[in-house]
Amino acid sequence: MNLIKAIVDRQDAYMAWRRNLHAHPELAYQEHRTSDFVAAKLTEFGIPVTRGLGKTGVVGSLTSGIGTRRIGLRADMDALPLQELNKFEHCSREPGTMHACGHDGHTVMLLAAAEYLARTRDFDGTIHFIFQPAEEGEAGAKAMMKDGLFTRFPVDGVFGLHNWPWLAPGHFVVRNGPMMAAMDIFEATLRGRGGHAAQPHLTVDPIVVASLLIQSWQTVISRNVDPLESAVVSVTQIHAGNAWAVIPEEVVLRGTVRTFNPDVQQKIEHRLQEIGQGIAVAHQCNFDWRYERRFPPTVNSPRETEWAAQAASRVFGEQGIRRDVAPSMGSEDFGWMLLEQPGNYAWIGSGGSGDCLLHNPYYDFNDEIIPAGASYWVTLAQQFLHNVALS
Ligand SMILES: [Zn+2]
Ligand SMILES: [Zn+2]
Repeated sequence: MNLIKAIVDRQDAYMAWRRNLHAHPELAYQEHRTSDFVAAKLTEFGIPVTRGLGKTGVVGSLTSGIGTRRIGLRADMDALPLQELNKFEHCSREPGTMHACGHDGHTVMLLAAAEYLARTRDFDGTIHFIFQPAEEGEAGAKAMMKDGLFTRFPVDGVFGLHNWPWLAPGHFVVRNGPMMAAMDIFEATLRGRGGHAAQPHLTVDPIVVASLLIQSWQTVISRNVDPLESAVVSVTQIHAGNAWAVIPEEVVLRGTVRTFNPDVQQKIEHRLQEIGQGIAVAHQCNFDWRYERRFPPTVNSPRETEWAAQAASRVFGEQGIRRDVAPSMGSEDFGWMLLEQPGNYAWIGSGGSGDCLLHNPYYDFNDEIIPAGASYWVTLAQQFLHNVALS
C-alpha cells in the first residue's frame, strides 16, 4: 500500500480521536458533541467552518491555488440506538447508543485528510469537507441539502466512503452504477372486531388476516417482479394482542422494501397496497396503509467512479481494488447527494472477525484502516482538483 507518511505518523492521535468519539456516540440530529469536536479540529487546522446545515451538520471549506474545480468529501457522524456489549475501555458511555456502523471512523478519516491538506495546501481548487448528521434512516444528507449544501458549497463531484468489514483491510471496492438500494418503509393497520378467543365466530380476527397478508405479500417478489431485477420485501414488525384469550381489535405490520429500478419500486408499492386491501376486504377488516420512500438508490456516475478508482489504485495498488463486487440491498442516504451531483460512493475493507459486522453490538471500527482511508481522500482530492487526466 502507498500510504501518506505524514498521516501514518499521526496515527496515535487519530486512534485517540476515534476512540473518544466511539465512547460518546450520539443519535440522529443530536450530534452536538461530535459536531463540536469536528468544528474545533477543522478550526485548529485553519479551515473555515460553517455549522447548522441539517441541524448538526458541519462543512469545512479549504481553497488553494488558482484552480476553479471543487470537490465534496462526505463523512457521516451519527450512531445507532443499540446497546454496546463490548467491554474495552473506549466502549460507549451512553446507554442504548453505539457507534456500530463505524461513523466514528469515517469522521476521523476525513478529519485526518483535512489536517494533511490544510497543512500542505498541495492541491489546486476548493475542497468542501462535509460532515453530515443522521445517516441511519433519518436522511441527514437530504436535510443538509435542504439547507442549501450544494448551492452554498457548489461541487463538481461529491464522494462518500464506508468501511466494509466483509472485506479485509488493504482492499477497496469501487463500482460504477448502482451501489446500494433504495429504501422504502411501509405500515399496514388491519382493524377487525375483538372478542373472546373461544368465540371466534363473533369476532373479526385481524391476526389470521395478517398471517394471510404476510404470506401473500411474498408473492409480489416471486410473481410480480421480473426475475432479472433485484428487490426485497421484508415484514419486520408484527404488533398485536397481549392476552391468552383475547382476539385483538387490530394488528399493525411494518416492514421495508429495497429496489434499484424505479419501475420495480412503483410496482411493489402498488401491489403491496392492492393485495392488502383485497385481503382485508375479503375478510371483513379495515385496512389503513402508509408507504414512504425514505432513501433513493445510491447510483455512482461513470466519470467520478474512474476518479475514485484511480485514487484508490494509487493507495491500495491495482491488486487491492475490486470492481466486480455485486451491489448491496442495504441503503445509504448518500443516494440523495448522488441524485443531485455526480459522484461516487465506495467501500473500504475493514476486515472484522465474524462478530464484528456492521450494526452488531460487538462491532468496533478497525483503527488500522484510518491512514488508508485518509490517504485515499487526500489522493482523490488532489487528482480530481488538478484534473489529472484519467488513466
Ligand atoms: Zn449503518
Ligand atoms: Zn453506516
